[in-house]
Amino acid sequence: METAELILIPLPETGHLLSSIEFGKRLMDLDRRICAITILSMKLPYAPHAYASMAALTASEPRIRLISLPEIHDPPPIKLLETSSEAYIYDFIQKNIPSLRKTLTDLVVSPQDSVRVAGLVLDFFCVSVFDIAREVNLPSYIFLTSNFGFLGFMQHLPKRHRVTPSEFADDSREDELLIPSFENRVPAKVLPAGVFDRRSYEALVELGEKFPGAKGILVNSFSELEPHAVEYFSRGRDYPPVYPIGPILNIKNRPNPGLTTAQHEEIMRWLDDQPESSVLFLCFGSMGVFGTPQIREIAHALELSGFRFIWAIRTHLTESSDPHEALPEGFMGRGIVCSWAPQVEILAHKATGGFVSHCGWNSIQESLWYGVPIATWPMYAEQQLNAFEMVRELGLAVEIRLDYVADGDRVSPDMVTADEIVRAVRSLMDGDNPVRKKVGEISKAARRAVSDGGSSSAATGDFIRDILGDGL
Ligand code: UDP
Repeated sequence: METAELILIPLPETGHLLSSIEFGKRLMDLDRRICAITILSMKLPYAPHAYASMAALTASEPRIRLISLPEIHDPPPIKLLETSSEAYIYDFIQKNIPSLRKTLTDLVVSPQDSVRVAGLVLDFFCVSVFDIAREVNLPSYIFLTSNFGFLGFMQHLPKRHRVTPSEFADDSREDELLIPSFENRVPAKVLPAGVFDRRSYEALVELGEKFPGAKGILVNSFSELEPHAVEYFSRGRDYPPVYPIGPILNIKNRPNPGLTTAQHEEIMRWLDDQPESSVLFLCFGSMGVFGTPQIREIAHALELSGFRFIWAIRTHLTESSDPHEALPEGFMGRGIVCSWAPQVEILAHKATGGFVSHCGWNSIQESLWYGVPIATWPMYAEQQLNAFEMVRELGLAVEIRLDYVADGDRVSPDMVTADEIVRAVRSLMDGDNPVRKKVGEISKAARRAVSDGGSSSAATGDFIRDILGDGL
């Protein structure tokens, strides 16, 4: 049996890492010919939780080798991250290209234990590596940590750019776009906020222009969830083949950076004592930071609605602080606040009845997997588009907002009021809400998709055959 190794280059942010590493493990479990995965690890100066997660996720897996690239000495200015996060990440990857070139060339010229390197699987932010892959004669595939709706946006953006070569104007937020992977017209205000910023817009266009250079695009989603978009991409129009291989979820032995064992146990014990489907879970991803006035408004909503809750509050991106300090004096809510939540365990618990989420794609798929309906409160990246797709396209979520954009710990001009929150969470927790039933059905479909003979398992098999060169 000829064996092969794959090289993975994930973006070192929690949401991207969890699913990329899990996918690597799944490939090795599915086909013994893939005997090793090498992960090239870059060091992003922010995303403090990501390093701990990367180490924890790979430590117990001898088939995964982690190669840390040298830290770059001239990272993009951190100010750029605040104004233009996509441009920051794009520049960061560009600055890593020389060391990526050296490392990849060395790996291909002198492979580990003489095992052949079969190809590269890259985060979509790393598509500049295609050029290096061509130099060393390796096929490269994108592993998209988001969904087919977002892929449609990345296909659409370069086309629009040919006609209108500039970022979106601030006064075009209400304009509606025809993006073929969506059945509905998409308002500009739910596109990633970067399209309104010149530098991020340029970065997104550059990335989108490179997508067709992939040999294939693996998407962490499944056909039954996004039938229209998957059908659109499967019609094979001048674009690489797509593989719906999700949901790839990191469920077992997941690290909880920033949470002590005692806090973790306290949360789970408390949940055990709550009635079925009675608890509202609020969590805004690995980087969702609110200012104090917005936190007060959420606290007020929790008091007014009276629901039991678990609420992960982050007030700074890089420093950890006591989340209780952010609460208004005399807060009378019936629940637990923490700075990092064991999200998957909470969603899996029968006491959890609804999830107020920032709509990161991992969070959405985790909650669908466990059949917990979401109320949408997008913050950053492509979360507004995810929220739009969940509410308007698929009828799988309750709307708090579709177009909210996080403004770090500054005071957002666009505050969500306690009344709005109360209205949405009452609807979310209502046992008769049809969204709840639909989510239950999709939960079953998700499990079928990744089981033997399911749609995502079949697509993963197709990808393995392609990258190993079977049937050539
Ligand atoms: N997560 C968690 N606890 C937290 C915040 C996040 O376990 O307090 C996990 C969550 O389960 C998910 C990931 O971190 O797997 C976040 O990924 P997602 O794509 O939802 O959002 P991102 O953080 O990338 O914006």
